[in-house]
Amino acid sequence: MAGLAPEGSQFDARHYDTKMNELLASDGQDFITSYDEVYDSFDSMGLQENLLRGIYAYGFERPSAIQQRGIVPFCKGLDVIQQAQSGTGKTATFCSGILQQLDYGLVQCQALVLAPTRELAQQIEKVMRALGDYLGVKVHACVGGTSVREDQRILQAGVHTVVGTPGRVFDMLRRQSLRSDCIKMFVLDEADEMLSRGFKDQIYDIFQLLPGKIQVGVFSATMPPEALEITRKFMNKPVRILVKRDELTLEGIKQFYVNVDKEEWKLETLCDLYETLAITQSVIFVNTRRKVDWLTDKMRSADHTVSATHGDMDQNTRDIIMREFRSGSSRVLITTDLLARDSLQFIVEFTEDCPVYILTLQLS
Ligand code: ADP
Repeated sequence: MAGLAPEGSQFDARHYDTKMNELLASDGQDFITSYDEVYDSFDSMGLQENLLRGIYAYGFERPSAIQQRGIVPFCKGLDVIQQAQSGTGKTATFCSGILQQLDYGLVQCQALVLAPTRELAQQIEKVMRALGDYLGVKVHACVGGTSVREDQRILQAGVHTVVGTPGRVFDMLRRQSLRSDCIKMFVLDEADEMLSRGFKDQIYDIFQLLPGKIQVGVFSATMPPEALEITRKFMNKPVRILVKRDELTLEGIKQFYVNVDKEEWKLETLCDLYETLAITQSVIFVNTRRKVDWLTDKMRSADHTVSATHGDMDQNTRDIIMREFRSGSSRVLITTDLLARDSLQFIVEFTEDCPVYILTLQLS
Protein backbone atom coordinates (compact mmCIF):
# COMPACT_ATOMS: atom_id res chain seq x y z
CA MET A 1 0.00 0.00 0.00
CA ALA A 2 1.18 3.54 -0.66
CA GLY A 3 2.32 5.27 2.53
CA LEU A 4 0.51 8.20 4.06
CA ALA A 5 1.96 11.32 2.55
CA PRO A 6 2.45 14.55 4.46
CA GLU A 7 -0.40 16.98 4.38
CA GLY A 8 -1.32 18.23 0.96
CA SER A 9 1.79 16.87 -0.72
CA GLN A 10 0.10 15.08 -3.58
CA PHE A 11 -3.07 17.02 -4.09
CA ASP A 12 -2.46 20.34 -5.72
CA ALA A 13 -5.41 22.62 -4.99
CA ARG A 14 -4.14 25.21 -7.46
CA HIS A 15 -3.94 22.63 -10.21
CA TYR A 16 -7.47 21.54 -9.34
CA ASP A 17 -8.77 25.11 -9.56
CA THR A 18 -6.94 25.77 -12.83
CA LYS A 19 -8.55 22.68 -14.31
CA MET A 20 -11.93 23.74 -13.03
CA ASN A 21 -11.49 27.19 -14.61
CA GLU A 22 -10.45 25.65 -17.92
CA LEU A 23 -13.53 23.51 -17.85
CA LEU A 24 -15.67 26.54 -17.15
CA ALA A 25 -14.07 28.52 -19.97
CA SER A 26 -14.64 25.72 -22.44
CA ASP A 27 -18.24 25.01 -21.66
CA GLY A 28 -20.34 28.05 -22.10
CA GLN A 29 -18.72 30.82 -20.11
CA ASP A 30 -19.66 33.07 -23.02
CA PHE A 31 -23.34 33.00 -22.21
CA ILE A 32 -23.37 32.11 -18.54
CA THR A 33 -22.38 34.50 -15.79
CA SER A 34 -21.26 33.26 -12.43
CA TYR A 35 -22.85 34.36 -9.21
CA ASP A 36 -20.90 34.43 -6.02
CA GLU A 37 -22.76 36.22 -3.25
CA VAL A 38 -22.61 34.20 -0.06
CA TYR A 39 -25.15 34.26 2.78
CA ASP A 40 -23.87 32.43 5.79
CA SER A 41 -27.16 32.13 7.67
CA PHE A 42 -30.71 31.34 6.62
CA ASP A 43 -31.83 34.47 8.51
CA SER A 44 -29.85 36.77 6.23
CA MET A 45 -31.48 35.52 3.01
CA GLY A 46 -34.67 37.58 3.28
CA LEU A 47 -36.90 34.49 3.41
CA GLN A 48 -40.50 34.55 4.61
CA GLU A 49 -40.95 33.96 8.32
CA ASN A 50 -42.94 30.77 7.80
CA LEU A 51 -40.37 29.33 5.44
CA LEU A 52 -37.63 30.00 7.99
CA ARG A 53 -39.72 28.25 10.63
CA GLY A 54 -40.02 25.23 8.34
CA ILE A 55 -36.27 25.16 7.67
CA TYR A 56 -35.36 25.31 11.36
CA ALA A 57 -38.09 22.85 12.35
CA TYR A 58 -36.63 20.41 9.82
CA GLY A 59 -33.40 20.57 11.80
CA PHE A 60 -31.20 22.70 9.56
CA GLU A 61 -29.21 25.28 11.50
CA ARG A 62 -26.71 26.64 8.99
CA PRO A 63 -26.95 26.63 5.21
CA SER A 64 -24.55 24.32 3.34
CA ALA A 65 -22.11 25.81 0.79
CA ILE A 66 -24.55 25.49 -2.13
CA GLN A 67 -27.43 26.82 -0.04
CA GLN A 68 -25.35 29.85 1.01
CA ARG A 69 -24.91 30.73 -2.67
CA GLY A 70 -27.89 29.22 -4.40
CA ILE A 71 -31.08 30.04 -2.50
CA VAL A 72 -31.04 33.82 -2.95
CA PRO A 73 -30.58 33.98 -6.76
CA PHE A 74 -33.31 31.37 -7.15
CA CYS A 75 -35.61 33.46 -4.94
CA LYS A 76 -34.87 36.50 -7.12
CA GLY A 77 -36.40 34.66 -10.05
CA LEU A 78 -33.14 34.22 -11.95
CA ASP A 79 -32.50 31.24 -14.20
CA VAL A 80 -29.84 29.25 -12.36
CA ILE A 81 -27.43 26.43 -13.04
CA GLN A 82 -26.29 25.00 -9.73
CA GLN A 83 -23.46 22.55 -9.71
CA ALA A 84 -22.26 20.67 -6.65
CA GLN A 85 -21.70 17.05 -5.79
CA SER A 86 -24.56 14.86 -4.73
CA GLY A 87 -25.38 15.10 -1.03
CA THR A 88 -24.46 18.77 -0.62
CA GLY A 89 -27.97 20.10 -0.02
CA LYS A 90 -29.23 21.00 -3.49
CA THR A 91 -32.73 19.69 -2.77
CA ALA A 92 -33.35 22.14 0.04
CA THR A 93 -31.90 24.90 -2.17
CA PHE A 94 -34.52 24.64 -4.89
CA CYS A 95 -37.31 23.69 -2.47
CA SER A 96 -36.65 26.92 -0.54
CA GLY A 97 -36.45 28.93 -3.77
CA ILE A 98 -39.80 27.56 -4.91
CA LEU A 99 -41.53 27.85 -1.52
CA GLN A 100 -40.44 31.48 -1.21
CA GLN A 101 -42.02 32.42 -4.53
CA LEU A 102 -45.32 30.51 -4.57
CA ASP A 103 -48.58 32.42 -4.37
CA TYR A 104 -50.39 30.42 -1.68
CA GLY A 105 -53.71 32.11 -2.42
CA LEU A 106 -53.72 30.46 -5.84
CA VAL A 107 -54.19 26.72 -5.68
CA GLN A 108 -52.79 26.00 -9.15
CA CYS A 109 -49.57 24.28 -10.08
CA GLN A 110 -46.93 27.03 -10.17
CA ALA A 111 -43.76 24.95 -9.94
CA LEU A 112 -42.70 21.73 -11.63
CA VAL A 113 -39.67 19.70 -10.53
CA LEU A 114 -38.38 16.75 -12.59
CA ALA A 115 -36.16 14.06 -11.08
CA PRO A 116 -34.62 10.95 -12.63
CA THR A 117 -36.08 8.32 -10.28
CA ARG A 118 -39.35 7.70 -8.52
CA GLU A 119 -37.64 7.44 -5.14
CA LEU A 120 -35.88 10.74 -5.58
CA ALA A 121 -39.09 12.47 -6.69
CA GLN A 122 -40.86 11.16 -3.61
CA GLN A 123 -37.98 12.21 -1.42
CA ILE A 124 -38.11 15.76 -2.84
CA GLU A 125 -41.87 15.84 -2.27
CA LYS A 126 -41.27 15.04 1.40
CA VAL A 127 -38.60 17.71 1.82
CA MET A 128 -40.79 20.30 0.07
CA ARG A 129 -43.76 19.40 2.27
CA ALA A 130 -41.70 19.53 5.45
CA LEU A 131 -39.97 22.84 4.66
CA GLY A 132 -43.29 24.32 3.53
CA ASP A 133 -45.29 22.99 6.46
CA TYR A 134 -45.96 26.42 8.00
CA LEU A 135 -46.78 27.90 4.60
CA GLY A 136 -49.49 25.32 3.95
CA VAL A 137 -47.90 24.15 0.70
CA LYS A 138 -49.75 21.55 -1.34
CA VAL A 139 -47.29 19.34 -3.16
CA HIS A 140 -47.76 16.11 -5.06
CA ALA A 141 -45.36 13.54 -6.52
CA CYS A 142 -46.36 12.31 -10.01
CA VAL A 143 -44.37 9.15 -10.62
CA GLY A 144 -44.78 5.97 -12.58
CA GLY A 145 -45.94 2.79 -10.89
CA THR A 146 -48.75 4.56 -9.04
CA SER A 147 -52.41 4.97 -9.90
CA VAL A 148 -53.06 7.42 -12.74
CA ARG A 149 -56.59 8.00 -11.45
CA GLU A 150 -55.32 8.93 -8.02
CA ASP A 151 -52.85 11.41 -9.56
CA GLN A 152 -55.66 12.93 -11.58
CA ARG A 153 -57.87 13.22 -8.51
CA ILE A 154 -55.17 14.98 -6.48
CA LEU A 155 -54.25 17.35 -9.31
CA GLN A 156 -57.90 18.13 -9.87
CA ALA A 157 -58.30 19.02 -6.19
CA GLY A 158 -55.43 21.51 -6.61
CA VAL A 159 -51.72 21.68 -5.76
CA HIS A 160 -49.08 24.41 -5.71
CA THR A 161 -46.18 22.23 -6.80
CA VAL A 162 -45.66 18.97 -8.67
CA VAL A 163 -42.52 16.86 -8.37
CA GLY A 164 -42.24 13.95 -10.74
CA THR A 165 -40.47 11.70 -13.17
CA PRO A 166 -40.59 12.74 -16.84
CA GLY A 167 -42.90 9.96 -18.09
CA ARG A 168 -45.78 10.45 -15.69
CA VAL A 169 -45.49 14.23 -15.73
CA PHE A 170 -45.66 14.31 -19.53
CA ASP A 171 -48.66 12.00 -19.43
CA MET A 172 -50.46 14.26 -16.94
CA LEU A 173 -49.69 17.37 -19.00
CA ARG A 174 -50.83 15.72 -22.23
CA ARG A 175 -54.13 14.67 -20.69
CA GLN A 176 -54.44 18.17 -19.26
CA SER A 177 -54.88 16.68 -15.81
CA LEU A 178 -51.91 18.86 -14.96
CA ARG A 179 -52.56 22.37 -16.27
CA SER A 180 -49.49 24.32 -17.15
CA ASP A 181 -50.96 27.85 -17.48
CA CYS A 182 -49.80 28.99 -14.04
CA ILE A 183 -46.45 27.20 -13.98
CA LYS A 184 -43.75 29.83 -13.52
CA MET A 185 -40.86 27.75 -12.14
CA PHE A 186 -39.29 24.64 -13.63
CA VAL A 187 -36.49 22.65 -12.01
CA LEU A 188 -34.45 19.79 -13.44
CA ASP A 189 -32.83 17.92 -10.58
CA GLU A 190 -29.84 15.66 -11.24
CA ALA A 191 -29.91 16.83 -14.85
CA ASP A 192 -26.82 14.79 -15.77
CA GLU A 193 -28.37 11.63 -14.37
CA MET A 194 -31.64 12.36 -16.15
CA LEU A 195 -29.88 12.75 -19.50
CA SER A 196 -27.80 9.64 -19.04
CA ARG A 197 -31.01 7.72 -18.43
CA GLY A 198 -32.29 8.78 -21.83
CA PHE A 199 -34.92 11.30 -20.74
CA LYS A 200 -33.74 14.01 -23.13
CA ASP A 201 -36.64 13.80 -25.58
CA GLN A 202 -39.19 13.68 -22.83
CA ILE A 203 -37.68 16.72 -21.15
CA TYR A 204 -37.87 18.60 -24.45
CA ASP A 205 -41.49 17.49 -24.95
CA ILE A 206 -42.38 18.75 -21.49
CA PHE A 207 -40.70 22.10 -22.16
CA GLN A 208 -42.90 22.51 -25.25
CA LEU A 209 -46.01 22.22 -23.10
CA LEU A 210 -44.94 24.86 -20.57
CA PRO A 211 -45.52 28.61 -20.81
CA GLY A 212 -42.81 30.48 -22.72
CA LYS A 213 -41.76 32.78 -19.94
CA ILE A 214 -40.71 30.60 -17.07
CA GLN A 215 -37.90 30.49 -14.52
CA VAL A 216 -35.64 27.50 -15.08
CA GLY A 217 -33.27 25.90 -12.56
CA VAL A 218 -30.85 23.16 -13.55
CA PHE A 219 -29.25 21.25 -10.66
CA SER A 220 -26.53 18.81 -11.44
CA ALA A 221 -23.24 17.38 -10.21
CA THR A 222 -21.72 17.68 -13.70
CA MET A 223 -22.60 19.56 -16.88
CA PRO A 224 -22.22 17.21 -19.85
CA PRO A 225 -22.72 18.76 -23.34
CA GLU A 226 -26.35 17.64 -23.46
CA ALA A 227 -27.07 19.49 -20.22
CA LEU A 228 -25.42 22.60 -21.63
CA GLU A 229 -27.58 22.28 -24.72
CA ILE A 230 -30.65 22.41 -22.49
CA THR A 231 -29.37 25.52 -20.76
CA ARG A 232 -28.70 27.19 -24.13
CA LYS A 233 -32.09 26.29 -25.55
CA PHE A 234 -34.34 26.95 -22.63
CA MET A 235 -32.68 29.32 -20.23
CA ASN A 236 -32.58 33.06 -20.21
CA LYS A 237 -29.30 34.67 -19.09
CA PRO A 238 -28.62 31.95 -16.56
CA VAL A 239 -26.26 32.44 -13.65
CA ARG A 240 -24.08 29.59 -12.56
CA ILE A 241 -23.34 28.68 -8.98
CA LEU A 242 -20.48 26.25 -8.73
CA VAL A 243 -19.32 24.84 -5.43
CA LYS A 244 -15.74 23.74 -5.75
CA ARG A 245 -14.27 20.89 -3.84
CA ASP A 246 -12.29 23.06 -1.42
CA GLU A 247 -15.38 25.00 -0.43
CA LEU A 248 -16.87 21.77 0.81
CA THR A 249 -14.03 21.27 3.25
CA LEU A 250 -14.73 21.97 6.87
CA GLU A 251 -12.46 23.92 9.18
CA GLY A 252 -10.19 22.24 11.73
CA ILE A 253 -9.22 19.26 9.65
CA LYS A 254 -6.04 17.80 8.29
CA GLN A 255 -5.93 16.03 4.96
CA PHE A 256 -3.65 13.26 3.73
CA TYR A 257 -3.60 11.74 0.30
CA VAL A 258 -2.85 8.27 -0.87
CA ASN A 259 -2.15 7.98 -4.56
CA VAL A 260 -3.85 5.00 -6.13
CA ASP A 261 -2.92 4.47 -9.74
CA LYS A 262 -5.82 2.32 -10.75
CA GLU A 263 -9.47 2.37 -9.74
CA GLU A 264 -9.40 -1.39 -9.18
CA TRP A 265 -6.63 -1.06 -6.56
CA LYS A 266 -8.70 1.19 -4.39
CA LEU A 267 -10.59 -1.52 -2.57
CA GLU A 268 -7.43 -3.37 -1.59
CA THR A 269 -5.78 -0.15 -0.44
CA LEU A 270 -8.83 0.73 1.58
CA CYS A 271 -8.81 -2.63 3.35
CA ASP A 272 -5.07 -2.18 4.03
CA LEU A 273 -5.82 1.17 5.60
CA TYR A 274 -8.31 -0.33 7.97
CA GLU A 275 -5.85 -3.02 8.97
CA THR A 276 -2.98 -0.59 9.45
CA LEU A 277 -4.64 2.33 11.19
CA ALA A 278 -6.47 2.44 14.47
CA ILE A 279 -9.61 4.09 13.25
CA THR A 280 -12.48 4.42 15.66
CA GLN A 281 -15.10 5.54 13.21
CA SER A 282 -15.00 6.69 9.65
CA VAL A 283 -17.15 7.82 6.77
CA ILE A 284 -16.43 6.70 3.23
CA PHE A 285 -17.81 8.91 0.50
CA VAL A 286 -18.65 7.46 -2.87
CA ASN A 287 -20.33 9.25 -5.73
CA THR A 288 -23.00 6.87 -6.91
CA ARG A 289 -25.69 4.91 -5.17
CA ARG A 290 -24.62 1.80 -7.04
CA LYS A 291 -21.13 2.17 -5.62
CA VAL A 292 -22.56 2.40 -2.10
CA ASP A 293 -24.13 -1.03 -2.58
CA TRP A 294 -21.04 -2.47 -4.22
CA LEU A 295 -18.61 -1.26 -1.56
CA THR A 296 -20.95 -2.21 1.29
CA ASP A 297 -21.03 -5.75 -0.07
CA LYS A 298 -17.27 -5.95 -0.47
CA MET A 299 -16.54 -4.56 2.98
CA ARG A 300 -19.06 -6.87 4.60
CA SER A 301 -17.52 -9.89 2.93
CA ALA A 302 -14.16 -8.74 4.31
CA ASP A 303 -15.79 -8.92 7.77
CA HIS A 304 -16.23 -5.21 8.41
CA THR A 305 -19.40 -4.06 10.12
CA VAL A 306 -20.60 -1.19 7.97
CA SER A 307 -23.63 1.06 7.71
CA ALA A 308 -24.69 2.57 4.42
CA THR A 309 -26.92 5.43 3.30
CA HIS A 310 -27.69 7.04 -0.04
CA GLY A 311 -30.00 9.56 -1.60
CA ASP A 312 -32.61 7.06 -2.76
CA MET A 313 -33.45 6.19 0.84
CA ASP A 314 -36.16 8.16 2.55
CA GLN A 315 -35.12 10.66 5.21
CA ASN A 316 -36.50 8.55 8.03
CA THR A 317 -34.43 5.50 7.12
CA ARG A 318 -31.34 7.67 6.67
CA ASP A 319 -31.89 9.27 10.10
CA ILE A 320 -32.23 5.86 11.76
CA ILE A 321 -29.04 4.55 10.13
CA MET A 322 -27.14 7.72 11.07
CA ARG A 323 -28.32 7.45 14.68
CA GLU A 324 -27.18 3.83 14.84
CA PHE A 325 -23.82 4.75 13.36
CA ARG A 326 -23.34 7.67 15.76
CA SER A 327 -24.15 5.40 18.68
CA GLY A 328 -21.13 3.32 17.63
CA SER A 329 -22.85 0.18 16.44
CA SER A 330 -20.69 0.17 13.32
CA ARG A 331 -17.28 1.66 12.60
CA VAL A 332 -17.76 2.53 8.99
CA LEU A 333 -20.41 4.52 7.20
CA ILE A 334 -20.52 4.33 3.41
CA THR A 335 -22.52 7.14 1.90
CA THR A 336 -23.17 9.56 -0.96
CA ASP A 337 -24.25 12.15 1.56
CA LEU A 338 -21.55 14.79 2.06
CA LEU A 339 -23.30 16.35 5.01
CA ALA A 340 -23.04 13.11 6.96
CA ARG A 341 -19.46 13.97 7.80
CA ASP A 342 -20.36 16.40 10.56
CA SER A 343 -18.43 15.65 13.75
CA LEU A 344 -16.64 12.56 12.45
CA GLN A 345 -12.95 12.09 12.78
CA PHE A 346 -11.96 10.19 9.73
CA ILE A 347 -13.16 10.46 6.21
CA VAL A 348 -12.19 8.59 3.09
CA GLU A 349 -13.09 9.76 -0.37
CA PHE A 350 -13.72 6.88 -2.71
CA THR A 351 -15.27 8.75 -5.62
CA GLU A 352 -14.51 7.64 -9.14
CA ASP A 353 -13.52 11.08 -10.36
CA CYS A 354 -10.88 11.31 -7.69
CA PRO A 355 -7.45 9.82 -8.46
CA VAL A 356 -6.43 9.74 -4.82
CA TYR A 357 -7.88 8.85 -1.48
CA ILE A 358 -8.45 11.91 0.57
CA LEU A 359 -8.20 11.01 4.22
CA THR A 360 -9.58 13.80 6.27
CA LEU A 361 -8.78 13.76 9.95
CA GLN A 362 -10.90 16.02 12.05
CA LEU A 363 -8.99 17.69 14.86
CA SER A 364 -10.85 18.04 18.12
P1 ADP B 1 -28.35 16.78 -2.86
O1 ADP B 1 -29.71 17.20 -3.31
O2 ADP B 1 -27.27 17.79 -3.18
O3 ADP B 1 -27.96 15.38 -3.26
P2 ADP B 1 -29.61 16.62 -0.29
O4 ADP B 1 -30.46 17.82 -0.41
O5 ADP B 1 -30.23 15.27 -0.44
O6 ADP B 1 -28.36 16.75 -1.27
O7 ADP B 1 -28.87 16.73 1.15
C1 ADP B 1 -28.10 15.70 1.68
C2 ADP B 1 -28.40 15.51 3.16
O8 ADP B 1 -28.00 16.64 3.91
C3 ADP B 1 -29.87 15.30 3.46
O9 ADP B 1 -29.97 14.30 4.46
C4 ADP B 1 -30.33 16.65 4.00
O10 ADP B 1 -31.40 16.51 4.89
C5 ADP B 1 -29.07 17.14 4.70
N1 ADP B 1 -28.97 18.62 4.68
C6 ADP B 1 -29.19 19.45 3.62
N2 ADP B 1 -28.98 20.72 3.97
C7 ADP B 1 -28.63 20.74 5.27
C8 ADP B 1 -28.29 21.78 6.22
N3 ADP B 1 -28.26 23.06 5.88
N4 ADP B 1 -27.99 21.40 7.48
C9 ADP B 1 -28.00 20.08 7.82
N5 ADP B 1 -28.31 19.05 7.01
C10 ADP B 1 -28.62 19.37 5.74
